[in-house]
Amino acid sequence: MAKYKLEYLWLDGYTPVPNLRGKTQIKEFASFPTLEELPLWGFDGSSTQQAEGRSSDCVLKPVAIYPDSTRKNGAVVMCEVMMPDGLTPHPSNGRATILDDPGAWFGFEQEYFLYQDGRPLGFPVDGFPKVGQGPYYCGVGYKYMGDIARQIVEEHLDLCLDAGINHEGINAEVAKGQWEFQIFGKGSKKCADEMWVARYFLNRLCEKYGIDVEYHCKPLGDSDWNGSGMHANFSTEYLREVGGKAYFEALMAAFSEHCEEHIAVYGPDNHMRLTGLHETQSIDMFSYGVADRGASIRVPHSFVKNDAYRGYLEDRRPNSQGDPYQIASRILKTISLVPKP
Ligand code: ADP
Ligand code: MN
Ligand code: MN
Ligand code: MN
Repeated sequence: MAKYKLEYLWLDGYTPVPNLRGKTQIKEFASFPTLEELPLWGFDGSSTQQAEGRSSDCVLKPVAIYPDSTRKNGAVVMCEVMMPDGLTPHPSNGRATILDDPGAWFGFEQEYFLYQDGRPLGFPVDGFPKVGQGPYYCGVGYKYMGDIARQIVEEHLDLCLDAGINHEGINAEVAKGQWEFQIFGKGSKKCADEMWVARYFLNRLCEKYGIDVEYHCKPLGDSDWNGSGMHANFSTEYLREVGGKAYFEALMAAFSEHCEEHIAVYGPDNHMRLTGLHETQSIDMFSYGVADRGASIRVPHSFVKNDAYRGYLEDRRPNSQGDPYQIASRILKTISLVPKP
C-alpha cells in the first residue's frame, strides 16, 4: 500500500468566470487509484460563493483522475460540485447538464498572457515594448521571448503529458508575453475536463516564478495588441464521414440563427475582442469562410477539398476565459438542431 496525495479540484461559484479551487486528501491504495475507488469529499461552500454560512457543506464528486508528476504518489482529481445529498448537482455545476457525445471531437486552442507586476511579461514598466506586434508569433530569441516564458511553457507541456492530458502543441502568440496551447479530446466532457486541469497546472506552475496567468480576452484593452481567444475546433462523426455542401450550409444557417446564444457562453467581455480587427469577426456578425481568420467560423482547406465538405470546423469566437463545458455543449446543441439529409 502507498499513501496517495489526491488533489480534489473544483470550480467555485464566482461569476462570470469561476476560479479553480483544490485541496488535498491522503488515501492509501495498492496502486494508482481508479475513478471508482475515489470517495466523495466535501468543502466549505460559504468560502467559495457556493453556500450560505449556516448550511455550508458542499459535496465533491470525482469525475476524472490524472497523475501529478510534481508530487510523489500525486494525483489531480477533477470533481463536480453536488448538493449535500451527493446526488443533486449544485447550481454552479455546469458540467452535470451539458450535452456530450463521444463521436464529437473538440480541439481547444487556449491563448493566455503571462503577467508579472501587473503587466505582460517582458513589457517595460511604462508604455509598450519598443518593438510592436510582428516578431513574437512563433518567435525565437531572447529579445523577443525573454528567458522565463519558454521554461514555463515547456514545464507545463511536460506536466500535461505526464498527466495523460491530450496536449497537442504549443506556440508563442502575436503579442509579447502571450502564448497558446492546444488540447484535443473525444467527447465534450473529456476534452473540457482536460482543459480545466491544464489551466490548473499552468496557474500552479506559475506560482514559483512569481507570475500570473492572465486569461482575460483583451487585457491590453483598446490598443493595437491582440486579445486572447480559445478557438474551438469541432467535428462530429457525421461531419467527418458524410458531410456534404447542403448539410454544411444548413449547419452554418443554424449557427447564424443562434449567434447570440453562442456568444452568451463564449466568455465575458468578448465585445472588447471581437471587433472585426486583429483576426476576429465583429461580435454581432456571423460569417464563415475558407481559411478566413477574420470570419466567425474558419473552414479549413481540408474541409472543402474535392468539394467533400467533410472534416472539422473552427469556431474562432470563444475567448480565453470561456468555459469549455458550456462552449462544447452549445456547439453540440446547435448541431443537434440541423436534420441530416
Ligand atoms: P490554428 O492556430 O491554425 O487555428 P492549431 O493547430 O492551433 O490551428 O489548432 C487546430 C486544432 O484543431 C488542434 O487543437 C487540433 O486538435 C484540432 N483538430 C484537428 N482535427 C480535428 C477534428 N477532426 N475534430 C476536432 N478538432 C480537430
Ligand atoms: Mn492555434
Ligand atoms: Mn492562436
Ligand atoms: Mn485557431
